[in-house]
Amino acid sequence: MERKNAWLSYNECDKAAVEAVAKRYCAFLDAGKTERECASEAIRLAEEKGYTDLNCKIVSGEKIVAGDKLYVNWMGKAVMLFVIGKNPIEKGINILGAHIDSPRIDIKQNPLYEEGGFAYLDTHYYGGIKKYQWVAIPLAMHGVVAKRDGAIINVNIGEKEDDPVFCISDLLIHLSAEQMGKKAAEVITGEQLDIMIAGAPIMDEEKETIKGSVLKMLKEQYGIEEEDFLSAEIEVVPAGKARDMGLDRSMILGYGHDDRVCAYAQLEAMFDIEGVPEKTCCCILADKEEIGSVGATGMQARYFENAMAEIMNLTGDYSELKLRRALQNSRMLSCDVSAGFDPAFASAFEKKNAAFLGNGVCFNKFTGSRGKSGSNDANAEYLARVFKVMDDGNVSFQTAELGKVDVGGGGTIAYICALYGMEVVDSGVAVLNMHAPWEIIDKADLYEAYKGYKAFVLNA
Ligand code: MN
Ligand code: MN
Repeated sequence: MERKNAWLSYNECDKAAVEAVAKRYCAFLDAGKTERECASEAIRLAEEKGYTDLNCKIVSGEKIVAGDKLYVNWMGKAVMLFVIGKNPIEKGINILGAHIDSPRIDIKQNPLYEEGGFAYLDTHYYGGIKKYQWVAIPLAMHGVVAKRDGAIINVNIGEKEDDPVFCISDLLIHLSAEQMGKKAAEVITGEQLDIMIAGAPIMDEEKETIKGSVLKMLKEQYGIEEEDFLSAEIEVVPAGKARDMGLDRSMILGYGHDDRVCAYAQLEAMFDIEGVPEKTCCCILADKEEIGSVGATGMQARYFENAMAEIMNLTGDYSELKLRRALQNSRMLSCDVSAGFDPAFASAFEKKNAAFLGNGVCFNKFTGSRGKSGSNDANAEYLARVFKVMDDGNVSFQTAELGKVDVGGGGTIAYICALYGMEVVDSGVAVLNMHAPWEIIDKADLYEAYKGYKAFVLNA
């Protein structure tokens, strides 16, 4: 079953539309390099489009009616958007769900130390990374320091032209005979991923110190004391902006395509909804997917279910049974990236069932590993319904699985929402070098994902 490259179907008008979405997406990526920043940016965009805070309605008790556009800011790390439809919510809603956390390196709670003439911050990586990819590249620090008086200090160093950047050093090739003989997993170890943050000492109480110099700068420039690291969340990410890739500018090289590309396509789809839809439309941007969807902001927490209960309550149509029916009758696309076929590593893929960059939004009936273990495995009837929606919406799509059988695997949030008994299928954009500091996507796939998600949320 040959699938056509989407670029071949585009006229000049389509190409301009593809480029416009890509530009807005790159701006979103640059503004959102952490889950917190993505959440803030999503809410900022939603407010511009007329969405209001569900929490205000809960506090005021104001009724929710068809056509209302609502957002939920969950702990500043997860976001939900709703456009209330004409049909009773009990009959089910259409849901798009993606995640906005990405693999990175987190600063430890007690991080600062001095060694051999440098000051370092100790780290613990987050999500699945090839550690050797994170050395010898410019890095930036993003995050928050929560002070005990309630103040929150935002940290963002390394993105502006004249900002300093940070780095994890690697051993020079001249002395690497032993290192080069190691397995890739051991070339750089987790404890070696420490961030070099300063190199010039100061004299403090007649003692030479670099740590003292760092503490002085943190205090003067940011009002941060060493003790404040205990209650900080600072994430180290690749420094710099997302860029067009290729002479034809058909691709984007960026940090965090997994899964901000699907998150952003969802947002564009939601923002395109005009008037009052038949069914309520929902978009979830979840946190913590990369470490198993755990914690109060991960998809396993009940914030989505709780928001549904609050909304039904304010439409005057809530009961425990109606809520359960609403969840069970809903339909969902679990929007997460897929592994793109990479000719340089062809042996990891089975070509008939691989996702190709440019062939449109990708559907994964199942994910998982070793015999589909841990996967959602969508029903055939549901796949047929979703593919009909894609056909009717003139969406270029392909189907794929994550690499050859028994080569590896992965999971998404699909199985968690399926716990309610709702139909869910995985759908996303194909990515090359997924989880590397810089990942690659094709602009056409982003565009087709946006088109597909819009078609789904309005017509599924
Ligand atoms: Mn993902
Ligand atoms: Mn991932």
